[in-house]
Amino acid sequence: MSTTVKAYAAKEPTSLLAPFQIQRRAPGPEDVQIQILYCGVCHSDLHTARNEWKNTLYPSVPGHEIVGRVVAVGNQVRGFKVGDLAGVGCMVDSCGHCPSCAEGEEQYCENGFTGTYNGPVFGGENTHGGYSQAIVVKESFVLRIRHDLKELAAVAPLLCAGITTYSPLRHWQAGPGKKVGIVGLGGLGHMGVKIAHAMGAHVTLFTTSPGKVADGLRLGADEVCISKDPEQMAARASQFDFILNTVAAPHDLDAFLNLLKRDGTMCLVGAPESPHPSPQVFSLIFKRRSLAGSLIGGIRETQEMLDFCADHGLVSDIEMIRMDEINTAYERMLKSDVKYRFVIDMASLAD
Ligand code: NAP
Ligand code: ZN
Repeated sequence: MSTTVKAYAAKEPTSLLAPFQIQRRAPGPEDVQIQILYCGVCHSDLHTARNEWKNTLYPSVPGHEIVGRVVAVGNQVRGFKVGDLAGVGCMVDSCGHCPSCAEGEEQYCENGFTGTYNGPVFGGENTHGGYSQAIVVKESFVLRIRHDLKELAAVAPLLCAGITTYSPLRHWQAGPGKKVGIVGLGGLGHMGVKIAHAMGAHVTLFTTSPGKVADGLRLGADEVCISKDPEQMAARASQFDFILNTVAAPHDLDAFLNLLKRDGTMCLVGAPESPHPSPQVFSLIFKRRSLAGSLIGGIRETQEMLDFCADHGLVSDIEMIRMDEINTAYERMLKSDVKYRFVIDMASLAD
C-alpha cells in the first residue's frame, strides 16, 4: 500500500513553497524505502520551483540532495538493509539499456533519465523530490554512505553539488601539475574547490564577492581572484588548463575563456534562466580553446565521489534550516548569501 507523507511544494511559478501531501509507493521487490533525514537546497530547486527553465510540472516538490535511513527493502534488494544510511541524488531511474546507461552514464540516458523531481526529462509523469519525509527508490539508484552519522547533514549536498563538480574535474583530469579555476563560490563552487584541491590540482577561486576571499583559501584554494577586477583577471591570462564555471546567472564567458592556456577547456555547469552574452569566437580559435558542459554524474561515479569524499574527509559547509524557512533560504541564495549550502532538517516537517 502507498503511504501519504508530508512535503513542501510550489503550486505555481509565483507561489511560495507551502505544506503539501504526497503519496509514496509501497516498496516493490527491488525498492529501498528511505526516511529522509536531511535534504540539501540546490539552486536547481529554485530554478524549477519558479519555472525558470520553462519545464516545471506542478505541484513541484524539489530536493535532490537526499540522505536518510533505510526503513524497508524489497525481497530482491541485496545491498541495503533496514537501518543503513543511504543517499539519493538527482536521478531515480533511466532506460538501463542505451549506450550511455550501459557505460554507467545514466545522466546522459538516450531515452531520458527520470529526475528525482520533475519527472522523466523527455516528458512523463511528475516525480516528487526530497523536501518530504520519505522516498521509495529502486536499489540501483540508491547510494551507500560511509561517512559518520554525525556528518550526515553535511553529506547531503554531495549528492548533487559534489557529483556535479567531481565528474567534470575527473573527466578533464584535474590533478597534480594542473592549474584549475573554479568560478563562483556557492553550493557547487565550494565543493569544486574542496574536490579539486583534494585531487592535487593548483586551485584558483574566481568570485564576485570580496567577502569570500578568506573562505576560499580556507576551503582549499591556492589563490583567490576577484573576477570583477580587470587587473586581477588580466594578470592570469592564458594560464589555466581547466576552468569549472558554476555561476547561476548569465555573464561574460570571454573574461574566463581568455584565462585558458592553448588547448584548455572551460566547462559550464551553471544553468542560468537566460543565455550568456558571449563567447566571441576569437576567444576560442586563437588558442584552440574548448567550451564544454557537464551534467551531474552517473550512479557509479556518484558512489566513487562519495567514497572519495569519505576517504579525504570532505563534506559540505552547511547552514541548517527548518523546512518552513525554505522561502527565505531561496531569497538568500539569490543574493549569494549562503555559506555554502542550506540543508533542511527534515525532522522539522513533522512538527
Ligand atoms: P549557488 O549556491 O547560488 O551559487 C552560485 C554562485 O554563482 C554564487 O554563490 C556566486 O558566487 C555566483 N554568482 C551568482 N550570481 C552571479 C552573477 N550574476 N555573476 C557572477 N557570479 C554570480 O548555486 P548552486 O546551487 O551552486 O548552483 C549553481 C548553478 O549550477 C545553478 O544554475 C544550478 O541550477 C546549476 N546546476 C547544474 C548542475 C549540472 O548538472 N550541470 C547540477 C546542479 C546545479 P560568488 O559570490 O563567489 O561570485
Ligand atoms: Zn542540484
